Amino acid sequence: MKVRNWSPQIFLIFAVITAAFVSNTLIFSALNTDSLRAFSETEARMFSSFLVKSIEHSLTPEEIRSEPLSGESLRFLFPEEPNSFRARFRITAPDGRVLFDSNGEEASGFPEFPDNAVLEEARSTGSAAFRSGRKGVFFLAEDCCVVRPLYNGAFFLTLTHQGRAFQAMQRRQLILLLGLDLILMGIMVVLIVNIITKYRREILRYATTDELTGLCNRKSFNAVFTDMMSAEHPPEMSLFLLDIDFFKQINDKYGHAAGDHALQLLSERIQAMVRKKGGFAGRWGGDEFIGVLPLPGEEAWKTLCELCGVIEGLEPEEGFRMTISAGVSPVVPGMPLAKLSEQADSALYESKEAGRNRASLYSGSVALSDVAEAAKSTVEKAIVHAESLVIPKKAAERLKSAAPAETRFRKRFMGYIREHLIRSTILGVRWMAPFVAGGGILIGLAFLFDAASLDLSALSMETRAQFGSITTTAALLNRIGSTTFNFMLPIFAGFMAYGISGEAAFMAGFVGGYMTIDTNSGFIGAIIAGFAAGVITGEIEQFTGRLPKFIRKAAPIVIYPVFNLLLMELVSWLAIGPVSRALGSVFTALLNLAVQTNPVTAGAFSGAMMATDMGGILNKVAYQYGVNGISSGNTDMMASVMAGGMVPPIGIFLSMALFRGKYSEHEWERGPGTLFMGLSFITEGALPYVFTDVFRVIPSCMAGAAVAGALSTLFGCRLPAPHGGIFVLPVMERPLLYLLALGTGSLVTAVLLGLWKKEVR
Ligand code: GH3
Ligand code: MG
Repeated sequence: MKVRNWSPQIFLIFAVITAAFVSNTLIFSALNTDSLRAFSETEARMFSSFLVKSIEHSLTPEEIRSEPLSGESLRFLFPEEPNSFRARFRITAPDGRVLFDSNGEEASGFPEFPDNAVLEEARSTGSAAFRSGRKGVFFLAEDCCVVRPLYNGAFFLTLTHQGRAFQAMQRRQLILLLGLDLILMGIMVVLIVNIITKYRREILRYATTDELTGLCNRKSFNAVFTDMMSAEHPPEMSLFLLDIDFFKQINDKYGHAAGDHALQLLSERIQAMVRKKGGFAGRWGGDEFIGVLPLPGEEAWKTLCELCGVIEGLEPEEGFRMTISAGVSPVVPGMPLAKLSEQADSALYESKEAGRNRASLYSGSVALSDVAEAAKSTVEKAIVHAESLVIPKKAAERLKSAAPAETRFRKRFMGYIREHLIRSTILGVRWMAPFVAGGGILIGLAFLFDAASLDLSALSMETRAQFGSITTTAALLNRIGSTTFNFMLPIFAGFMAYGISGEAAFMAGFVGGYMTIDTNSGFIGAIIAGFAAGVITGEIEQFTGRLPKFIRKAAPIVIYPVFNLLLMELVSWLAIGPVSRALGSVFTALLNLAVQTNPVTAGAFSGAMMATDMGGILNKVAYQYGVNGISSGNTDMMASVMAGGMVPPIGIFLSMALFRGKYSEHEWERGPGTLFMGLSFITEGALPYVFTDVFRVIPSCMAGAAVAGALSTLFGCRLPAPHGGIFVLPVMERPLLYLLALGTGSLVTAVLLGLWKKEVR
């Protein structure tokens, strides 16, 4: 049983079970409102600075660590001396009555310490609420917190929460987690059903096929043949048996592995022949094959003669040739297979007797060996045919050296492009796709969690900038997602290089892909890195092939890694880095110009930039422009920038839905994840589609993104949050018009792509 086929599915089931376990644990802890909840890092940082500043005057970290803050300790949080932190602070009673308010978030310190009466009342009503910025955290004063040191003097807070807002948040998270749980369970059921179905299919396959050659085994050949013969009007057919000549000697001379290879090669040719003629074949045992052709005896015999010629013309290894002998018997309706195979066997025996490398036709009591002469010319023709199919190595070498050098170089280069670039890109995408989907969807889920848990409009600008990692769950998902995302381009470039020059090139490609993070060169940098690593390794391999044996042996361990790395670094340093830096400066200037000229042009331009290199320098320049806009109060640029970044994955999904025939099954399967990433403003979700068809996908995405960016500015949409996709719509100005802009842009991409792409066969 090939365990290999199952492992991804089994792995997936484990992943789903783990995910279900984690989500259930989260649900459990969410249900248990009295349990301690660890805050996210952002929250911890926010509150620890709040605490640290406050307690500086009173408690040492050791004291805090050893003594949990209680109602009495609350006093230390608010020293009498005014402190300079810009937090808004309020104490409320459970009925919502404000007992104390530090008076707005603009306060640069506490104007006055809440007097003891207020504190007393807070304690006696059993509740206090703190607000920092515009974010509220509610907890009982009595058992308010345990402070643990985290790092660099910062504290991690574990707080016991009460309070309606927090409970409402928990409820929302609970519903979300339950939903997620249901989805995970659903996936698990689908996977298990899938495995069972596959398992049954696999067992059936193992029971009916020959492992080495993949042909029918004797048993299933028998079953298929009997089934065919039981038809009301079976067609005119012939049965053939064939056997490799002197196969024992082949095994002895070249080894069993070469023998196995020869058997596989022969079965491929037999399969091709019977498929062409509409018959079927199987392995009878050892080096003997059996088959049926829907042809009269003589025609079938000619076909077998041709096959003899084809096999004789093959040269699986230098100097290694083989021949076969065959016997053909016309099928007499009603005659059992045992008898028919006996007749074919006697014809085969005739072939062996007559000198092998030929086919004989069984006719009555003896095989027609006298037709062998007539067959000769057919065989000769077949040999010529075979040679035109398989050019012997030496002839190929001669042809190569006869070609002029320039054509040779062009041919080689074009060969690289056609053969290596396309194939290796597809390989890179195949390995990269799970990283894109896994990382992207987790980051999207992080946004979803924060959106479901928090009232976005009540958050301060600084906290909003942390959207997607404010709550604990979101922070966790975001961290895992971002880590996964970082592997995306290195994996792509690594496997691309692997596709071009094999294992030796992987490392250089991987490192080259990683360097794109430094050089900000995005997917274009990754393609260049993967291709360069593959070609460089190929060339080094050729070069080392000419060196003495002991150096050749050391090459994979010493020469490839070191030289590859140095050359990759040179490519990054001399080509990729400077080019992307220059592009960055040029496009910053152009964007500045666009902003000064006309806001709608600027919207279109920044939108298109987001879709140009998807994570590369142009994307980053445009994005930074949007973010800077937020801090200077110009939030319309952020809206168009986000629209431009959301259009590519959404547009591609729409295009797949509208033009199914233009996308492969694999691409379609990735669709839902791609759409989710688009909605979450994760432009990289489009990358797997970009890599395999860059010249159509990128311009279509740019056009759609430009339309969305322009419309967003035209409609006056404004976005005061730097990321989050549709999850930050609640804080968007004119959200419906924004959706219209987004939809129109995506449709433009979808239609352009759909019309431009070729049908997938
Ligand atoms: P002849 O021309 O008379 O057929 O001579 P021959 O040497 O081919 O004789 P025969 O057909 O009797 O030999 C069959 C040999 O095939 C015996 C065995 O070593 C070899 N063989 C059978 N099955 C396998 C297999 O799965 N792999 C390999 N490598 N060899 C096999
Ligand atoms: Mg044999």
